[in-house]
Amino acid sequence: MKKVVIVGGGSAGWMSAAFLAKVLGASVQITLLESKQIATVGVGEATIPPIQLFNQLLGISEPDFIAATQATFKLGIQFEHWGKINERYMHAFGPTGKQMGLTPFVHYWLRARAEGDNSVLGDYSFNSLAAKKQRFGQSTKKAGPGNPSLVYAYHFDASAYAQLLKKYSLAQGVVHCEGTLADVQINALDGNIQTLKLTDGHTISGDLFIDCSGQRSLLLGQALKVPFESWQHWLPCNRAVAIQSDAQLAAPFTRAIAHSNGWQWQIPLQNRTGNGLVYASDFGSDAQAIRTLEQHLPGNPITDPNVLSFKVGRYRDQWRNNCVAIGLASGFLEPLESTSLHMVQSSLVRLAKLFPALEILATDVAEFNRQATLEAEGIRDFIILHYRQTQRQDSDFWRNIHSTPAPESLQDRIDTFLASGYLARRNDELFDENAWTQVLIGQGLIPKRYHVLAEQMPKSDLIVFLRSLRQQVDTFSETLSCHQSYVKNLVDKKVRNYA
Ligand SMILES: Cc1cc2nc3c(=O)[nH]c(=O)nc-3n(C[C@H](O)[C@H](O)[C@H](O)COP(=O)(O)OP(=O)(O)OC[C@H]3O[C@@H](n4cnc5c(N)ncnc54)[C@H](O)[C@@H]3O)c2cc1C
Repeated sequence: MKKVVIVGGGSAGWMSAAFLAKVLGASVQITLLESKQIATVGVGEATIPPIQLFNQLLGISEPDFIAATQATFKLGIQFEHWGKINERYMHAFGPTGKQMGLTPFVHYWLRARAEGDNSVLGDYSFNSLAAKKQRFGQSTKKAGPGNPSLVYAYHFDASAYAQLLKKYSLAQGVVHCEGTLADVQINALDGNIQTLKLTDGHTISGDLFIDCSGQRSLLLGQALKVPFESWQHWLPCNRAVAIQSDAQLAAPFTRAIAHSNGWQWQIPLQNRTGNGLVYASDFGSDAQAIRTLEQHLPGNPITDPNVLSFKVGRYRDQWRNNCVAIGLASGFLEPLESTSLHMVQSSLVRLAKLFPALEILATDVAEFNRQATLEAEGIRDFIILHYRQTQRQDSDFWRNIHSTPAPESLQDRIDTFLASGYLARRNDELFDENAWTQVLIGQGLIPKRYHVLAEQMPKSDLIVFLRSLRQQVDTFSETLSCHQSYVKNLVDKKVRNYA
């Protein structure tokens, strides 16, 4: 396995090139093919915390990254009008409250609630309160009890990030090839991809091919004919319109605002705001979607509406023969929980761990595909949850949501949580119990019972316990800086720490 060929120069292509060049070093020669004629998807600006590890592994410093990509910090996602119109909740990163022995914090909160306490779950989250107050800060001390810290991701300009990674990759020796793929030659004996033929007659051969060609899935889907598994019956949205508007005071969270015909993202960057409406062509027209988005922009538009269509679902295998698909070429889930770039990252880590030395082993391929399937299905269920647990009935779009039963894996979880408040992270999935709990409760699903161990705390102690946690969160939030100023200072390379 000497020659790795990446097809596609979008976020997935350049993330792959940078990562593989860094991890595999001189043991492989990497070529990236991209077409000037075919645009990248041009969206994908909100992330989740593991992106920090990706940059750290590459050795890209945070101030450099923030300055190069117009990035801001992200502490979570605020969901508005999802459970019911006029309700909102935050899916914040980082812990909520404090686990007591074996009993998750939520059971103490549920007990207090049953006894008349009216605090909301977010009152116990450092991230949630900081986000609400539009504050941010980083600790130089190791996080731990008595030394809280925020868990964060970024909002950034995806094209600028791809450019940063391109520069990085070229410096690591990645060969950049401009051209348009016209044909894929497959070895009839073993079914492996042998050579890529470009429209200008040039050819590129390789040992391992990484398909980052976007939704066209030129290698995995088209050349190798791996079947696509559609999830549209669970997630009906198949279109999005994006409009950028001018910069506003940057909030440290993404907004996901439900409307009668879909949902809107709002992503604050330093120099502009990214906006989009995700909707279903079965329940509304492009014109209607554009109107909805234009009516709800936070500022003046600076781009024309860009309408995109997408297929929700994934290719059954993400690695077939000598081809691994990464990014949109492997499938897509709507960006409600900002998971796509993370899935690029996790596919790359998986590939690096199973990278073939001499030959591709069927056992490694099967393991890669098994892990990728579990990851995608866990995220799929988490996204479907937002739609299932809603009381909205104000349009066909929302009324239709319940017409298909939820995946069994999700329905089980909802039923168990409703009955007893029990939740367990499955198969090392991306979202942990705290993430599921915030969304379940945020969408209005309150368990009928709480754990018996939560009963053991005397009522007066419970009140003091909860009050002191709220105070700790509030006191901490007061030590933080205004998010907007923090970003500005960071860009000026004046990192401000709090003790
Ligand atoms: C509406 C929407 C919103 C999103 N929001 C988020 C978000 O907030 N957070 C997040 O993590 N992700 C988000 N995503 C997903 C994210 O945009 C993608 O995962 C990411 O950009 C990776 O895209 P890609 O590189 O796989 O594909 P693309 O950007 O489509 O790149 C494909 C590449 O393949 C090349 N190519 C295609 N055909 C040929 C050919 N014949 N020859 C040579 N080259 C070719 C193109 O030139 C291009 O360089 C969103 C996606 C959509 C659709």
